Amino acid sequence: MNTQNIEYNITGHTVLTGLLGSPVSHSVSPAMHNLAFRMLGLDYVYLCFDVGTDHLKEVTDAMKLMGVRGFNCTMPDKNLMCELCDELSPAAQLIGAVNTVLVEDGRLIGHNTDGIGYMQAVKDAGFDIIGKSMTLLGAGGAATSIAVQAALDGVKSINIFSIRDQFFGRAERLAESLTATTGCRVMLYDMADQEALKKSIAESEILTNATSVGMAPNTDRCLIPEASWLRKDLIVSDVIYNPRETKLLSLAKSAGCRTCNGMYMLLYQGAAAFKIWTGRDMPTEAVKEKYFV
Ligand code: NAD
Repeated sequence: MNTQNIEYNITGHTVLTGLLGSPVSHSVSPAMHNLAFRMLGLDYVYLCFDVGTDHLKEVTDAMKLMGVRGFNCTMPDKNLMCELCDELSPAAQLIGAVNTVLVEDGRLIGHNTDGIGYMQAVKDAGFDIIGKSMTLLGAGGAATSIAVQAALDGVKSINIFSIRDQFFGRAERLAESLTATTGCRVMLYDMADQEALKKSIAESEILTNATSVGMAPNTDRCLIPEASWLRKDLIVSDVIYNPRETKLLSLAKSAGCRTCNGMYMLLYQGAAAFKIWTGRDMPTEAVKEKYFV
């Protein structure tokens, strides 16, 4: 579809959505949401607001009063937003972080669409991981969202590997609660246990990097030491989108694996938020064509 020259007039009825976080000026979200609003003829606008945790409560209180339809939130606001919401989706509750808020009748309803975005991106790449086993690297925000959504969606087992940093204790509790409340068996391992990691990868259908290792500017880094740990029928995915091809993904390609980068996770978490605010499907193919090539 030709996305040039679509008219967009701000009116007295224009509905406000946006992004809270700090920093936010680099975000691709305004481009994708505003294009989608325009294409569907929706009288909405999406703007970025540089707001850290210090003023998050005042800003969200004001948003309720101003009739804002909803907003995304990113670092460092995702955890505090969880406490400020009046109601949480099951995923947001399990993750303990909110990236999308719907304002309805003056109440804040918190969702987390990062995991939904990841699962959709994997599906979109042509991979079916439902009922399969996953090795997940990391236990931070992205990894938690993925573990929760994958468990809710029916992935059979997830082995999480994390270094013993501030995320480890929370991941221990998450593994226990997901195993108890979903049909998925979730286990946590110390990333230092390289034998366990190698074995887990050998027994998994998908390996997912949800750490920041390999992200620009440290693009020469990778948590998998050599291509011989990977095999042809393994799917290797990375949540990192800068660079598009991380060292892990290039190693995976050299081993003949099928791969999936973090670009479309970003797109589909946005599409899920768009649906929550507007009830409409984001025209993702056109958004991909314009902003995700
Ligand atoms: P975070 O700070 O919450 O978590 C970082 C994770 O990386 C932790 O698990 C930490 O233990 C791990 N880590 C850091 N250094 C490590 C090392 N040297 N060895 C092993 N593990 C290490 O951050 P986050 O929000 O989860 O983001 C992680 C990555 O995911 C970033 O690159 C971010 O850009 C990306 N991300 C992508 C999307 C998307 O839509 N594609 C969404 C969210 C995050």
